[in-house]
Amino acid sequence: MQKDPKYPIFVPSVTGLIHHPYTPPAEFEAPQPGVFKASTVYFPTVADMRQREWKDKSAYTYGLHGTPTTYLLEERLCSLEGGLQCVLVPSGLAALALVALSVLQSGDEVLIPDNAYGPNKALAAGELRHFGITHRFYDPMDPQDLSRQITERTRMVWLEAPGSVSMEFPDLPELVRRCRERGVLCALDNTWGAGLAFKPFDLLADGAGGEGSLAVDISAHALTKYPSGGGDVLMGSVITRDTALHLQIKLCHMRLGLGVAGNDAETVLRSLPSIALRYAAHDQSARALAAWWQIQPQCAQLMHPAFEGAPGHAHWQALCDRVPGKGLAAGLFSVMIDARYSQSQVDAFCDGLKLFKIGYSWGGPVSLVVPYDIASMRQAWPGHLKLGTLVRFSTGLESAQDLILDLHQAVQAHLPMA
Ligand SMILES: *Cc1c(COP(=O)(O)O)cnc(C)c1O
Repeated sequence: MQKDPKYPIFVPSVTGLIHHPYTPPAEFEAPQPGVFKASTVYFPTVADMRQREWKDKSAYTYGLHGTPTTYLLEERLCSLEGGLQCVLVPSGLAALALVALSVLQSGDEVLIPDNAYGPNKALAAGELRHFGITHRFYDPMDPQDLSRQITERTRMVWLEAPGSVSMEFPDLPELVRRCRERGVLCALDNTWGAGLAFKPFDLLADGAGGEGSLAVDISAHALTKYPSGGGDVLMGSVITRDTALHLQIKLCHMRLGLGVAGNDAETVLRSLPSIALRYAAHDQSARALAAWWQIQPQCAQLMHPAFEGAPGHAHWQALCDRVPGKGLAAGLFSVMIDARYSQSQVDAFCDGLKLFKIGYSWGGPVSLVVPYDIASMRQAWPGHLKLGTLVRFSTGLESAQDLILDLHQAVQAHLPMA
């Protein structure tokens, strides 16, 4: 039996595995931050336990209220999006739900863009309706329609730029202005922009309005996508620039018992430093693929906001491409496959792709494809969309040339010209 100078007698007991004299040095600094995981947090004394305050991050009280790892991730996400306060939740959808449950009460109405992320609409039609909160859909491409639908019961408006799947890019500053005029909260699902394509809390950046002159109230972000970048973590964030609004969200977050795991926070912290490089690479590849699709006779319509003729292209230019040619877009686009091809032919084309995997979500290294049935997702077929079968592509980090060869072989095999 060895003798440890710190322990008079080395006892291989269970207690010795838990209580030991070694404490790691506080000065350990390295490129990656330490990972702290806890449900329980110790207090040196009962008096200290009674005094500690977690709401302003001045102390730690319980794992659910935050750890050094989650606080650090929150601060870095605020830097990314230009916000001041952040709350982490276990998924992007949980971020949307937390926003709704924090600010909406029975009798309120929430307006949702017709092309919003589908599960956000389902939340409104399900739980929110059960709680006595009504919702209506507005046409995000028609700011007047938004103004018309705002009533004294409207408490919050959801915004998304661009819309899910059909990728229409709205006049975001104009929609925010109209919410401001009427005194309703505006919450943005900023997953696509990721804090990189435009600044949600400074929509007129570089414009005449000055810093922060036009901002959304809340930015919700599915960290599952680009901040994770690996296709292996689910997480979401809710970012604000208003202390009172943040506290309202934070208290609801606490009462609902939402929290994220230390290892998941670690994974996102590990990926964040490369987000701008990855985002730009996904963007470049997606544009190469979209440009290829645009000249294929099987493509009835290309939906990528950075392309001339795509729905809302001018709004994307105004918001994201202020220095022409330098604007960013996510690595996501959709193609309307001409109506002469049947659903089963389009399905066979998707099945025939080798590099593109069939799967939901995006932002990871592997390219993904999903055919969508737009008719079942909207109240009416959107007038600006050509008829056909919509296929959405999420471009991964493979070589764009290899991806185009893959598209080419699957088109040749399953979408014949004659
Ligand atoms: C993926 C996504 C979400 C939901 O994120 P999850 O982490 O998958 O729950 C919300 N909004 C948008 C726009 C998304 O793309």
